[in-house]
Amino acid sequence: MLKSTDVFVIGGGPAGLAAAIAARQRGFRVIVADGAVPPIDKPCGEGLMPDGISALRRLGITVKPQDSCSLRGIQFRRAGRAVGARFPSSGSGLGLRRTILHRIMTERAAELGVDLLWRTVVTSISSEAVNLADRTVGAKWIIGADGGNSRVRRWARLDTYLREGLRYAFQRHYHIEPWTDSVEIHWGPHSQIYVTPLADAQVGVALISRDPKLRLDEALSAFPKLKSQLRGAVPFAEKGALSATRKLKRVCRGNVALIGDASGTVDAITGVGLGLCFNQALVLAECLESGTLDRYPNEHRRLAFRPLLMARLMLALDGRPKLQQRTLQALHRRPEIFRRLLAFHGGVPSGLRLTLDGLTLGWGLLTA
Ligand SMILES: Cc1cc2nc3c(=O)[nH]c(=O)nc-3n(C[C@H](O)[C@H](O)[C@H](O)COP(=O)(O)OP(=O)(O)OC[C@H]3O[C@@H](n4cnc5c(N)ncnc54)[C@H](O)[C@@H]3O)c2cc1C
Repeated sequence: MLKSTDVFVIGGGPAGLAAAIAARQRGFRVIVADGAVPPIDKPCGEGLMPDGISALRRLGITVKPQDSCSLRGIQFRRAGRAVGARFPSSGSGLGLRRTILHRIMTERAAELGVDLLWRTVVTSISSEAVNLADRTVGAKWIIGADGGNSRVRRWARLDTYLREGLRYAFQRHYHIEPWTDSVEIHWGPHSQIYVTPLADAQVGVALISRDPKLRLDEALSAFPKLKSQLRGAVPFAEKGALSATRKLKRVCRGNVALIGDASGTVDAITGVGLGLCFNQALVLAECLESGTLDRYPNEHRRLAFRPLLMARLMLALDGRPKLQQRTLQALHRRPEIFRRLLAFHGGVPSGLRLTLDGLTLGWGLLTA
């Protein structure tokens, strides 16, 4: 063995960097290895909810205004009708390019003294050691942050799902001045397109559907208003990704813990994967400091509860145009319910009030 460390993080995407920063903030010696070279890009809606921004702040990261676009809320659009809600006054969201997020997270990790190994693929793990192509590194804790197709998950025999659902996503950027300060979710008969305003006169446009062959250009014909808004704007290359809802039976074993997409995912329509992994990182670092991962599974489940619930609610509308229409009508009539749902989605606790809203919305749907 050439070297050893307290914490070895496999994967230097947002989850891995967040885990490394949080562990370093608690005094651990940390190594991150990633096969790619920064700044790492990835197809993503690139929207950060208010609770994701608070978690970033706890990691010591503030995003400069010129690097991002402030998001005031979410708007649902369908067949010419729009209904929107604003985030609570306590916070707004951010539209932020993945490459910029990766750069600022890498800078923060480097500033704290995290040992960053790029172009470095991890080939396997054994108890208390991580194997790279040319050496083995001893590690007290091993964190699998290697994304949705995690190999660490397989190596640690954590690859058993309680639930799994797959959809297909295609994403593109357009050079055009953003026309909105909300994330727009356009509901079509068989797909959704969501639009995120970004800095530097760009918008991100992501298509999600159950059809692996459906591409943005073809899908846009079901969204004439959006298509005309994008007319003349210069698009960049289209990138594809899987949008999965995956709930794992276990997220840690022995000294190995999973985080981010490696530890389970929620459908991309929720736009919360990033905030979720930042919050997981903070909790995981607390567990490492306590010397045991015992609390991590429960905390992980608690953090995933809200996104999984919202994913279920939103996916109930997928492919059901009549229900979409009724939901938009009901939310239009009772805008305060949309506001509270959005507050819940953005991380504001609610409880009984939300249950009452659910019942009122259900009644609204029946009578719309
Ligand atoms: C279409 C789409 C839209 C989305 N929109 C949003 C949104 O608007 N807002 C939001 O918050 N979330 C969104 N998400 C979710 C979000 O993108 C993910 O939750 C987030 O990228 C998870 O980050 P991660 O670090 O876990 O995984 P990744 O970003 O996939 O990083 C994994 C890293 O591990 C590295 N790696 C893998 N294997 C190895 C190995 N063996 N050795 C070394 N390195 C390795 C890879 O190179 C990669 O850099 C969206 C997802 C999709 C698919």
